[in-house]
Amino acid sequence: MVLDKLGESLKGTLAKIAKSMFVSDKLINELVKDIQRALLQSDVNVKLVFNLTNQIKERVKSEDTPKGISKKEHLINIVYEELVVFLGKEKLELKVTKGKEPIRIMLVGLFGAGKTTTAGKLAKYYTNRGFKTALVGLDVHRPAAMDQLEQIGKQINVPVFIKKGEKDALKIWKEHEPELQKFDLLIIDTAGRDALSDDLIKEIEEVNKKIKPQERLLVISADLGQAAQTQAEQFHKSCNITGIIATKMDGTAKAGGALSACAVTDAPIIFIGVGEKSEDLEPFNPKGFVGRLLGMGDLEALLDKAQGAMDEDEAKDLGKRFLKGDFNLIDLYEQMEAMNKMGPLNKLLDMVPGMNQAKIPKDMLKVQEGKLKKWKFMMGSFTKKELEDPDLVDRARAERIAKGSGTSAGEIRELVKQYRQSKKMMKMFKGKDPEKMMKKMGQKGMPGMPKFK
Ligand code: GDP
Ligand code: MG
Repeated sequence: MVLDKLGESLKGTLAKIAKSMFVSDKLINELVKDIQRALLQSDVNVKLVFNLTNQIKERVKSEDTPKGISKKEHLINIVYEELVVFLGKEKLELKVTKGKEPIRIMLVGLFGAGKTTTAGKLAKYYTNRGFKTALVGLDVHRPAAMDQLEQIGKQINVPVFIKKGEKDALKIWKEHEPELQKFDLLIIDTAGRDALSDDLIKEIEEVNKKIKPQERLLVISADLGQAAQTQAEQFHKSCNITGIIATKMDGTAKAGGALSACAVTDAPIIFIGVGEKSEDLEPFNPKGFVGRLLGMGDLEALLDKAQGAMDEDEAKDLGKRFLKGDFNLIDLYEQMEAMNKMGPLNKLLDMVPGMNQAKIPKDMLKVQEGKLKKWKFMMGSFTKKELEDPDLVDRARAERIAKGSGTSAGEIRELVKQYRQSKKMMKMFKGKDPEKMMKKMGQKGMPGMPKFK
């Protein structure tokens, strides 16, 4: 995950609170020091760090603990809330809608910031959300730029509009303009420079005037750390940017510096780049981000994903049934299937509170998806009664089911065993704090969790 190290230190700090008997001044001072150290290590500006920790201290001193939560929980909550404020405002979204003419998003930034890569990521992101999207290549400075964009377009199956050899960006635009009208959304890649030179400002201004993009996004590399602030401010002043995309969040220990630095500028962070592949783009959501950083889980993101796969009631129901602990084989299958629909299981588990601490082997999750298909075959040969009460399945029944489904009795028994184990595990959740449970299981190596081979 992004900012692994910062996350680890902050989680360690919060664990200290959880383990301590009561909230003392000594604990608070230690907490503040830990947070300062962790943030400074990820290149956050010293002044910002002190502002943040002073704010935490101030609130701990002046606020009464709200009814219904413990002092410790209150303290953790203050840390969480202040980190969220620290990293930005609310989650911001670009206004991308289908209208009479295409929405135009222009990417600007220095050489190597990740503009072209990000153009592809954005095109994929919005194509997946139902927008008819095209990529427009206006980088006339780098000889290979057009080829790079063309390649990316091919990979993600999005049309690319370029003109190799043309030295005038506006001419390229003009030539394609009539054809571009049939799209909902245009992602426009532009040329960079080594620094924000007059030459670059002039070019961006000209393109701006002609194309009138609704969004002018600065693409900035997170490995700049806190130096990102100056660059963001300069670009904002000269090119009037509407937002920031921080790239290479995956490859740097300084990402905390870049995020907090950009958060204090007038242009908000809208997306972050977390890898080189076309799907490695995440909408930047300070709440979810801090939640994951602190290991509190990203329930909001989880619900977001779940909604794409099933309707809202179904999604809510899924969680409840899972934690209730009484279900039959069909339920188990449906739940597993629903979870699969939500996306790669391992990414999903990162977002469930406590799950990431449980250190579930990633391999196990991979095989599970293939195994589901087999389950379906096997379950087709269970009687309704057996599905509702798999404990009925003895040796003779297992053999009958195996014959009917073209599997072996051993595999049938394994399925029943997995069902029992899952049921046992889910029963343990009953009435308990899932986060605590998962933590405990993580330390003990997950007893009762079905072992998928
Ligand atoms: P441009 O000059 O601004 O167009 O930058 P490019 O899109 O060509 O990207 C420069 C390099 O950064 C390429 O090698 C990309 O693969 C890499 N890159 C871009 N975004 C990310 C990211 O989010 N994570 C990582 N690890 N690499 C990235
Ligand atoms: Mg480029």
